[in-house]
Amino acid sequence: MLQGARHEHAEALRAASKQLNINLEIVELRSEDEVDGDLDCLVLPGGESTAMRKASQSESLLSSLFSWMEQYPQRPVLGTCAGAILLANPGDTRIPFLRAGISRNAWGRQRDSFEAEVEVSLEIPSGESISPQASERDQFNHQPLPVGGSVSFENNTTFHGVFIRAPRFDQSSIECTPVASFGEEIVGVLDGPRLALTFHPELTGDYRFHRWLLNQANSAQ
Ligand code: GLN
Repeated sequence: MLQGARHEHAEALRAASKQLNINLEIVELRSEDEVDGDLDCLVLPGGESTAMRKASQSESLLSSLFSWMEQYPQRPVLGTCAGAILLANPGDTRIPFLRAGISRNAWGRQRDSFEAEVEVSLEIPSGESISPQASERDQFNHQPLPVGGSVSFENNTTFHGVFIRAPRFDQSSIECTPVASFGEEIVGVLDGPRLALTFHPELTGDYRFHRWLLNQANSAQ
């Protein structure tokens, strides 16, 4: 919760849990002592990975999240954009959490950001139609951006990809399962229980990837 589109992920998780009709407790992680074995799954949001690395230093958040992933290698993780960068390149001497290389800002500068339809091949549970409620400001004066609203995308293999100064997977280095592509380019991979996307699903009203995450966490219990 230190940087990036974290509130929008929280909103998307709440909506996905309603669609799946499962109970959800969101634990907002800001420091090492909040990261423990009770967590069933993890979201690493998009934002700015260098800022995330720096912001997390004083409270050792990132290193404790990486240690958590090493300790519970079967628990699902969703990393989007900067989150995908952190999974592929955790730094220090850690073994990467993705068998895929990644290059930052590889579509160009901020103004080269774009939206495009992405082809998805991932088994995702269907969900009930809901009307998401926008959240109020929290105690830190943050309010999630308003996004799509309730949309039915069932039986659709395309996903609206929002690419914001996005990274690119080094295509020839991918040794895990491709699950999302934009033309010939792979933009989403699955490595065991870790799903990494170079776009921002939390900035759409389409909660399929969040349903995937919650369903994985729920079925692992
Ligand atoms: N450009 C960012 C980085 O390198 C990632 C962009 C994003 O998460 N939307 O960390």
